[in-house]
Amino acid sequence: MTHVLTVNAGSSSLKYALYEKADAPAVVAQGKVGRIGGAAVLTPEGAPQRSLPDGTDHAGALSAVLDTLKASHPGARIDVVGHRVVHGGPDYAAPMVLTDEVLARLDQFAPFAPLHQPHNLAGVRAAKAAFPDALQVACFDTAFHRGHPFVNDTFALPRSYYDRGVRRYGFHGLSYDYIAGELRHRYPELKRVAVAHLGNGASMCALLDDTSVASTMGFSALDGLPMGTRCGQLDPGVVLYLMDQEGMSAEEITDLLYKESGLKGMSGISNDMRELEASDDPHATEALDYFTFRIRRELGAMAAVLGGLDGLVFCGGIGENSAHIRGRVCDGMGWLGISVDEAANQANAGVISDGPTKVLVIPTNEEIVIARAAVQLAGA
Ligand code: ADP
Repeated sequence: MTHVLTVNAGSSSLKYALYEKADAPAVVAQGKVGRIGGAAVLTPEGAPQRSLPDGTDHAGALSAVLDTLKASHPGARIDVVGHRVVHGGPDYAAPMVLTDEVLARLDQFAPFAPLHQPHNLAGVRAAKAAFPDALQVACFDTAFHRGHPFVNDTFALPRSYYDRGVRRYGFHGLSYDYIAGELRHRYPELKRVAVAHLGNGASMCALLDDTSVASTMGFSALDGLPMGTRCGQLDPGVVLYLMDQEGMSAEEITDLLYKESGLKGMSGISNDMRELEASDDPHATEALDYFTFRIRRELGAMAAVLGGLDGLVFCGGIGENSAHIRGRVCDGMGWLGISVDEAANQANAGVISDGPTKVLVIPTNEEIVIARAAVQLAGA
């Protein structure tokens, strides 16, 4: 039996999963390395944590993961590695084998996602060095949205900017791909569905017949909903003001918008939803008010884009676990055919509203989407 390894390398984390290579890949091990670049820690699921040497980089993190997998699954033979890559640019609308040519093209998209793409590609290079004979496959967060109609793919800038790649890409595509697959199999009658992926990063996607037609995220992973530390939708005039009047540099503004805003910036307490829900600080309350307000606003917009709504899906750490947020998003949405069963909501049940518009809680699984794509490209 051969195996597929999936690698999801972020700025300071590397999530991995090992699958048996089959048409329906079965997971055999998974885990995460956190705090890469600092006091890195390896946490294999179901096994004790292990500290890694200070300053461990992505290659060091991957090598620690491989040591752990060798010890726990000595017979595993990895011949395909699937990578999550945030940006596939305007061209890539499907997973790709990571030839040197594709990798060079992905390097060129790094300026589109400077905080994510270089780390993803560092993971790819580490895996290529560790498995020189394995097939390496890239799965893009943008790919699922590449079929958007032009009005949802563009900004109202001079046309030449669109041609140079300044477009609405949309992200969280692997998660939406998974949810679309689940809907196709389990709820084929739902044609017009809004999906709310609410984690530390958060976005929404409008699905028409399981195909993405709109996303709240745009050119970068900053747009749309407020997130743990990212601002969400922002008037570009604010950025001009910060540059012109407050003398902030691009680097300082990047830091502000990506790392210091969102739930963390508004509450002044934390980016973690559990902490904010437990807090009675009025700023935490305001942060939650803003978060739910923006989701409700986008939900209305998606219903308009889709010409009505048959379903709403919650996923991601908050979407799957926070009855409080789900309840607040759905409150007073009778006009959209939503009426939440409070007991089902409190229990994180699969169906929490069973009226004309179904409201579902579906745990997402980005890793299995990568593993399936990798197996398919490997021709197993
Ligand atoms: P990431 O985008 O980093 O993958 P996750 O999807 O894991 O993030 O989501 C993390 C968020 O989910 C955090 O804000 C966390 O507080 C929230 N979360 C996890 N469990 C719960 C819970 N039981 N109630 C409320 N929020 C939760």
